[in-house]
Formats: sequence, structure tokens, C-alpha cells
Amino acid sequence: MPIRTRALQKTAPDQPFRIAEIERRDPRPNDVVIAIKAAGICHSDIHTIRDEWGAAPFPLTVGHEIAGVVEAVGDAVTRHAVGDRVGVGCMVDSCGECEQCTADQEQDCLNGTVGTYASVDRDGTVTQGGYSEHVVVDERFVLRIPEGIELDVAAPLLCAGITLYSPIDRWGVGPGTKVAVVGLGGLGHMGVQLAAAKGAEVTVLSRSLSKADLAAELGAARTVATGEEGWAEAHRGEFDVILNTVSADLDLGMYLSTLKPHGAMVNVGLPPEPQQLSLGSLIGGGKVLAGSNIGGIRQTQEMLDFCAEHGIGAVIERIGVDDVDAAYDRVVDGDVRFRFVIDTATFAAATA
Ligand code: NAP
Ligand code: ZN
Repeated sequence: MPIRTRALQKTAPDQPFRIAEIERRDPRPNDVVIAIKAAGICHSDIHTIRDEWGAAPFPLTVGHEIAGVVEAVGDAVTRHAVGDRVGVGCMVDSCGECEQCTADQEQDCLNGTVGTYASVDRDGTVTQGGYSEHVVVDERFVLRIPEGIELDVAAPLLCAGITLYSPIDRWGVGPGTKVAVVGLGGLGHMGVQLAAAKGAEVTVLSRSLSKADLAAELGAARTVATGEEGWAEAHRGEFDVILNTVSADLDLGMYLSTLKPHGAMVNVGLPPEPQQLSLGSLIGGGKVLAGSNIGGIRQTQEMLDFCAEHGIGAVIERIGVDDVDAAYDRVVDGDVRFRFVIDTATFAAATA
């Protein structure tokens, strides 16, 4: 029997969230049924549900920063047991057989990764995300949340955490490297903590200095205000790696000028519009302009364990299910320190 569960749903980009009962599939032998306790709000949820990345499949429930407790498991499940604290990130299935999946890069599955929401699942249904009380997920895509990290603080690690951990690993961020994190939002504040914990010297490139004290608490050596004239000239040729988390258009050439020769600017922010670039900004100094998409499941578990070991978690603001529309506007206005997390216990008393 399919499971019926409450979820926050939108029927169109300009409609408010409402509470609906949605169906989760009848658990298969490899499935885990998760009672969701906390769901983070990622800017990708907002891009998606506001149709900024193209037409979304409505009605839709978003959310891919999910933390909860295992409520039931299928007969063939070996990795998780009832009562375990678990998380689910941006993907819920992949072919498991292609050269990407077998190299622990399920996010780049050659046969198409199934996203946690707005994706066509293998049974033809459209996946529905984590702003909900329950979800049913194949055990391969369910992560263990280590003891010592609260579930609501852990939820944003499942997207924001791995999205920064993966390029930090790939581009060799560590002792002796100078890293710039552009944009101090949900992703950026994880980037600062993770890069600092890896031993790098971290500079935050933010529009103003309004979050400089908080950036320092997260481990940044300094904050530079990119809204001030001449900031790029003052930091010319300084960084080994730039991690760009900004959700809007940027003057990429200006940022590239602050890289050392052979440095890399890695983009994880995904603004809706194409960006402009003069190739001269890359050719002088042999610079690299790269992208990065979340990370594989093995690496996501490694990131969670790393966070537990280093006492790292997301800095969150807890909200109820009635507060999500207002929270979206605040994220877009840059008015969140640093991630909103929905407490799903508030479904019980909600009016939405
Ligand atoms: P967020 O919390 O809104 O943070 C984005 C930050 O960008 C803001 O805090 C702000 O930092 C800066 N910013 C916003 N508008 C700006 C503007 N007009 N000009 C300059 N800076 C601006 O968003 P998020 O959840 O971290 O997500 C960031 C982006 O990453 C989104 O596009 C999202 O879709 C994408 N994303 C990608 C992946 C991936 O796998 N690649 C995964 C998750 C999310 P300051 O106030 O400090 O300037
Ligand atoms: Zn996300």
C-alpha cells in the first residue's frame, strides 16, 4: 500500500504553499521509510518552484536537505535499521552500473540521476521532495547522520555541505592554499567552515561587510566587500581557488583577475541567465573556470563524518510550515543567517 503523508505543495509559481496529502510509493525490498524531522530550504528549491530554471512539474513539493529517523525498512535493506538517524540529499536513484555510478559519482550518472524532486522516477512518477512528513528512498541514497550532529543542523549538509565539500576536495583546498568563498549564504557559510577546517586561509567575498563578524566566527580570515569600488584590484592574483556560490549574475572576469596564475574558479551557484566572459580573462595566467554538482554518495557520507569529527554544522534558523513563503522572500533578499530549516513537527498545528 502506498504511504499517504502530509507535504507542503505548490500548484503554480505564484501560488502560496499549501498542505496537501501526497503518496509515497509502497516500499520495495530495498527501500527505507523515513519520518522526516527537518528539511532545509536551498536556493535551488526557490529557482525550481519559481520556474527560474524552466517550467517545473506542478503540483510539486520541493526540498532536498532531508534529515529524519528510519521508521520502516524493506526485507532486503542491510545498511539502515528502524530508529537510525538518516539523511537524504539531492538524488534518490541512479542506474548504479555506468562508469560514473561505479566510480561513486552517481550525481553524474550517464543514464540520468533521479533528483529528489521534480524528476521522473523509474516508475514514471514525478519525485516529490522533503518538505513533508515521510519519504521512501532506496537505501543506496540514504546517508547515516553521525551522533553529535542534531538532525536540523545536519539537514543542510545534505546539499549545501556536500556541494562545497566536493570541490574543496577536488581542487586541493588545504594547508597553504588561499581560498575565496563568494556569497555568504547557505552554501557559502558551509564553504567557509569546511575550507577552514581543511586548513586553508579563507577570504569571504560578500557584497558588503555586514556579515564580516559572522564570517570570522565561521573561520574566515577576512571579508572583502565586493560592492566597493576597486576591491578586485586590491586582491589581484591572490587566490588559489575561488568557490562561487552566488545565485545571481556576476562579472566573472573581475573575479578571475583575483586568481593566481593556474588558479581555479569553481562555480556552484546556478543563476537562471547565461553569463558573459571574455576568454582573455582565462588565457592570461592559464586559469581554470570550472563547475561542480553536489557530490557522490560515498563522498557525502565522508563529508558528514568529517563534519562530526570537526564539530561543523549548518547555522540555521528554525521555521514552521506556515513560514515558508516568507522565508523564500528572505532568502532572495539575502536575509538569512544562514539556512532556514523547516521543523516538520509543525505540520500538526499548521494552517497553510
Ligand atoms: P543563498 O543562501 O541565497 O546564498 C547566495 C548568496 O549569494 C547570498 O547570500 C549573497 O551573498 C550572494 N548573492 C545573492 N544575490 C546576489 C547578487 N545579486 N549579487 C551578488 N551576490 C549575490 O543561496 P544558496 O542556497 O547558498 O544557493 C546558492 C546557489 O547555488 C543557487 O543558485 C543554488 O541553486 C545553487 N546550488 C548549486 C548546487 C550545485 O550542486 N552546484 C547545489 C545547491 C545549490 P552575500 O550577501 O554574502 O553577497
Ligand atoms: Zn540544494
